[in-house]
Amino acid sequence: KKYVYLFNEGDANMRELLGGKGANLAEMSKLGMPVPNGFTITTEACNKYYEDGEVINDDIKAQIMEFLATLEEETGKKFGDANNPLLVSVRSGARASMPGMMDTILNLGINDTVAEAMAAKGNPRFVYDSYRRFIQMFSDVVKGLSKKRFEEIIDELKAEKGIKNDLDLDAEDMKELVKRFKAFYKEQLNEEFPTEPAEQMMDSIEAVFKSWNNERAIYYRRQNDIPSDWGTAVNVQMMVFGNMGDNCGTGVAFTRSPSTGENKLFGEFLMNAQGEDVVAGVRTPNTIDQLKEIAPAAFDQFVDICSKLEKHYKNMQDMEFTIENGKLYMLQTRNGKRTAQAALKVACDMVDEGLVTPEEAVMMVEPQQLDALLHPNFDPEALKKAEPITSALPASPGAASGQIVFSAEEAIEEAAKGKKVILVRLETSPEDIQGMAAAQGILTVRGGMTSHAAVVARGMGACCVSGAGDIAMNEEAGEFTLNGKTYKSGDWISLDGSTGNVYGEAIPTVEAKISGDFERFMNWADEARRLKIRTNADTPRDAAQAVKFGAEGIGLVRTEHMFFDGDKIKAIREMIVAKTPEQMEAALAKLEPMQQEDFEGIYEAMEGRPVTIRYLDPPLHEFVPTKPEDIAELAAEMNMDVEELTAIIDGLHEVNPMMGHRGSRLDVSNPGIAKMQTEAVIRAAINVNKRHPEWNIVPEIMLPLIGDLKELKYVKKMVTDTADQIIADEGVDMDYHVGTMIEVPRAALKAGELAEEAEFFSFGTNDLTQLTFGFSRDDAGKFLPEYYAAKIYENDPFAKLDQEGVGELIEIAAERGRNTRPDIKLGVCGEHGGDPVSIEFVDGLGLDYVSCSPYRVPIARLAAAQAAI
Ligand code: ADP
Ligand code: MG
Ligand code: MG
Repeated sequence: KKYVYLFNEGDANMRELLGGKGANLAEMSKLGMPVPNGFTITTEACNKYYEDGEVINDDIKAQIMEFLATLEEETGKKFGDANNPLLVSVRSGARASMPGMMDTILNLGINDTVAEAMAAKGNPRFVYDSYRRFIQMFSDVVKGLSKKRFEEIIDELKAEKGIKNDLDLDAEDMKELVKRFKAFYKEQLNEEFPTEPAEQMMDSIEAVFKSWNNERAIYYRRQNDIPSDWGTAVNVQMMVFGNMGDNCGTGVAFTRSPSTGENKLFGEFLMNAQGEDVVAGVRTPNTIDQLKEIAPAAFDQFVDICSKLEKHYKNMQDMEFTIENGKLYMLQTRNGKRTAQAALKVACDMVDEGLVTPEEAVMMVEPQQLDALLHPNFDPEALKKAEPITSALPASPGAASGQIVFSAEEAIEEAAKGKKVILVRLETSPEDIQGMAAAQGILTVRGGMTSHAAVVARGMGACCVSGAGDIAMNEEAGEFTLNGKTYKSGDWISLDGSTGNVYGEAIPTVEAKISGDFERFMNWADEARRLKIRTNADTPRDAAQAVKFGAEGIGLVRTEHMFFDGDKIKAIREMIVAKTPEQMEAALAKLEPMQQEDFEGIYEAMEGRPVTIRYLDPPLHEFVPTKPEDIAELAAEMNMDVEELTAIIDGLHEVNPMMGHRGSRLDVSNPGIAKMQTEAVIRAAINVNKRHPEWNIVPEIMLPLIGDLKELKYVKKMVTDTADQIIADEGVDMDYHVGTMIEVPRAALKAGELAEEAEFFSFGTNDLTQLTFGFSRDDAGKFLPEYYAAKIYENDPFAKLDQEGVGELIEIAAERGRNTRPDIKLGVCGEHGGDPVSIEFVDGLGLDYVSCSPYRVPIARLAAAQAAI
C-alpha cells in the first residue's frame, strides 16, 4: 500500500488521504505555483500507526526513506550533508484544519556539523538562528519540554548583553543559545539532543501522529463533529528561509477581509523572520501593501497568485508565504475562516462577480455561524480588554451583561425597575422561566448542554452559561465565591454564551444587525431546500420572532410552558390537588379560557401557518408549590388544611418522574385534562378563523409519550368526541388533525399500527434518545465525559442525534408509518431539529420537516439547503 505521496503526485481532491494542507500544497504545485518540494505521509499511515499499537511499521518507514531520497534528488541537497544540506519542515495536516494539533517543526536536519558548514559559507547568524529555533520546536513538540523555559533562556542572554530586540542578537549569541538550549535539553531528559537527521525526522513524524490524540485535539474534534478515525497526514517539505536577511521575510494573507468580507487583499508580513513570528507577535508586522516597496517583484507575483487561487478554489483563501532573497514561495492555502458577516458578504459578492452560483454560495457558509448574527454581541474592543473569571459550558449563545440576582422573583422585580440582571442559580427549574425571560442571561452552577436552563435559554434565545462548577454558591447569603473572590447580589458580571466565558465586570453589548446580504443569502438557501422548517414556540412572542426568522409553522407548542404564567399556575395547582370531581371541574373551567387565549395568540402570530399543539406532558409534581407560604395559600383557596394538602403533594412524588406519570398517561387517569385542552384548541381555532377566514386554520393536536395503539385510540377518542361536539354546536366546517409523538421506543417499533390512528408523527428526539439509551438527560452529563475519554461515545447524543441507534428507530418508524398511511406527515421536534448534522440525516430519511427553537430557524434553513444540494 502506498503511504507516501510527492507533492506533485497529489491534488486538491485527495484531501481525505493527504489532509487539507498536503492536498492544497499538491494542488498549488500542479498549478505551477512556487511551492518548495516535499512529500505527504497519508492519514492512512496515521491510522495504521494506531492500529499497530503506536508504532510506525517498517513498511511505512521504508517508504518515507525512499521519498526522502527522491526529495534529495529533486532538490539536489542531502540530509545531514556538510556541503549542501537539506533542511525540512515537518507539518501536520488533518482533513479539516484543526487548532490544538501538533505545531510545526522547522529547520529539521540541522546539527553541529551541518551548522558549521553552512555558517562557513557566510551568514552564520541566520544558521544559528535556525538551529536554535529547531531545538526549541523539537523540544517542545516532540519531547514536551516547556516552551517558556526557552524564552526565559533567551531573555536571560538578552539581559546579560543589555539587548532589547531579538534582531540585535548576533551570530555568536545565537550560537550561545544553541549551547544553552542543548544543555537544558540534556538536563531535563538525560540524553543528548539527537544529531542524526533521519532520527529527528522519524521522531517528529511520530509526534504528529501522537498529537492527533492529545486532549486538545480530542476536545476540538468533539466540538466540531470531526470523527476520530480521520487521522492526520504529515507533510515533509524542503525549508525556504525568511530569516536570511533583509530581503527575506514571511507572512500570512487573506484574499479578502476575514472580518468584513471586503474584496481587498488583507495580510501581514515580517522581514527577516521565520514561521509563526508574524502571529506570535514578536515584532509588529508590516501590512501587506508595504511588501510592494520592499520586494516589488515578489509582491506582484503574490497578488497574481492570490487571484488565481481564489478563482481556482472559488472561495476566499487564507495563505502563508515566505520570501527568500526576494523570491516568493507559497507554503499553504486554504479556505479562509471568516466572521459570519464576512461570510455572507463574500458569498453574495462572489455570486455578483460570477465566480460562484447561488447554490455554491449557499455551501460556503457554516450554518452554525449564522448564530452570531442573531444575538446581541459584546463590543469586540471591550471584550479584548476583559479577563474571564471562569469558563463553563456555552449553553446558549449571546452576550449578556447585568447585575447578579439569585432568584427568579428577584430577576422579575429588578427587571421591572429597568435594571439589567443576570440570574445566577445552582440549576433552574420550570418555575424559573419568567425570571429567566426577564434576565439578560442565565448562569448555572450545575447542568449540561441539555439541562433545563440550557434548553429553555436556547428556546428563548437568551444567553446562558451552564455548569460553572468552580462557583461556590451561597444563595441564602446572596453571594457566591469564585477563586477566592466574593460576588454579591447587585454586582456586575457578563456572560459570553458563545464561549462559556464569565467576566466579573460589565461589558457593553451591541445589537446584532441583519444586513441585506443576509436576506439575499437566505432566499437562495430556501430555494435549494426540501425540508420544511418549523419552530418550537410556546408564546405569541416566540412565534412572531420565529416567523421573522423564516419559520413555516410551529412543530411543537409545549402547552405546559404557559401554565407557569401568572394566575395559570394557581389554577393548574388546584386541578392537580383536586380531591372531588367538583373541585377538578372548577379548576379546569378556570384553565380553559386561559389556554384558549394562549392558543388564539399563537394562531394570530402565525397568521395561518400550521401549528402543532402538544398536550400536557411533564409529571404533575413539577407544578405543585414547594414553599410553605405557597402551600398555605393553595390550601386556603381549596378549603383544605395544610397537612392534607401536604399529603397530596407528597403523594405525587415519583422515584423516576421522567418515566412516570406524564404525557398521555395523565389523560388516561384524568380525562378532564385532554377534554379541556381540546376545547381550548378548537374554540381558539374557530374564533381566529372567524376573524381571518383566509387563514383557514386546521388545528394539529399532538399526543405525547404514546406507546400503544389502544392507548392512542383511548386518548384520541376524548379529543375527537370533544372536538366534533364543539364543531357541530358552533355549526362551522373545520378540519383538524390528531397525531402522536414518537418518543418511546415501543412507539417507533409499533409505528405501523399507530399510523392507523395518527395522522402525523413527530419524533420527540430528546425523550427518544433518553429512553433508547436508558440514560437520563439531566444526569448523563455526569458520566458522559468518561465515555468520551474512553472513546465509547464521541458526542453528547442529546446534542447530536445518534444516527445509528436512535436514527434506526426513526427510520423504522417512518417506514412502517408510511406503509400504513402513505401521506403521513413526519417531523422532528426536540433539540436535534436545530442541529445541522442531524438535519442532514433527517433530510436523508425524507421526513417532511424539522422543528427547532426560534433562534435556530435560520441555521436549520441553511442546513436543510446544504443537505439538499
Ligand atoms: P500551522 O498549521 O500551525 O499553520 P504550518 O505547518 O502551516 O503550521 O507551519 C507554520 C509556519 O511555518 C508556516 O506558515 C511557515 O511560515 C513556516 N513553514 C512551514 N514549512 C516551511 C518551509 N518548508 N519553509 C519555510 N517555512 C515553513
Ligand atoms: Mg499554516
Ligand atoms: Mg417528550
